Amino acid sequence: MSDHPDPLIVVVSGPGGVGKGTIVDRLVERDSRLWLSRSWTTRERRDGESPDAYVFCSAEDFEGRIQASGFLEWTEFLGNYYGTPAPDTSAIGGRDVVLEIELDGARQVKQQFPDAVLIFLLPPSREEQERRLRGRGDPNDKIFARLKKAEAEEPIGREIADHVLTNDDLERTIDEMLAVIENERSRR
Ligand code: 5GP
Repeated sequence: MSDHPDPLIVVVSGPGGVGKGTIVDRLVERDSRLWLSRSWTTRERRDGESPDAYVFCSAEDFEGRIQASGFLEWTEFLGNYYGTPAPDTSAIGGRDVVLEIELDGARQVKQQFPDAVLIFLLPPSREEQERRLRGRGDPNDKIFARLKKAEAEEPIGREIADHVLTNDDLERTIDEMLAVIENERSRR
């Protein structure tokens, strides 16, 4: 038996270039009761990207972990695998869990944990999203594929999310998300 009640699971989803990575980093900085899960991916690390952004691994290693039932959820996104490792409760230490994942994964988590809270983030505009994607140095074809995917996913995200927020001002978005999380905690 654990001393802790079940953690709140906060799923943060939204299109590439919306600022999810920055936002979840800031959430866990601001609220010490939050724990950020680190995903595995077979995508190559981008220039300048932190080596800790993911566990960067080979397709063989990823598939081995799937076989060993080592993922809470996983998916293929634009030709690469991404997955949330099955959580290690001792590392979480009674904190609430934040997952920064795309929509297919978000849906899998909601199926397993109906109480999980899904926050879907929207960019202020397509132009701003494209500008942010270009700022990461991705090649044109990748940027185009991500923009197309974002457009297709937006209505699904709006439908399945518990909260939809537009990231037009980083600090305000973070404040709003912390308020959502606090409110969800108080309802439990
Ligand atoms: P990126 O390549 O831009 O880092 O991530 C691509 C997409 O994969 C983003 O929408 C990101 O949120 C999502 N993603 C990152 N980690 C995971 C994960 O563990 N599972 C799922 N389903 N998606 C993830």
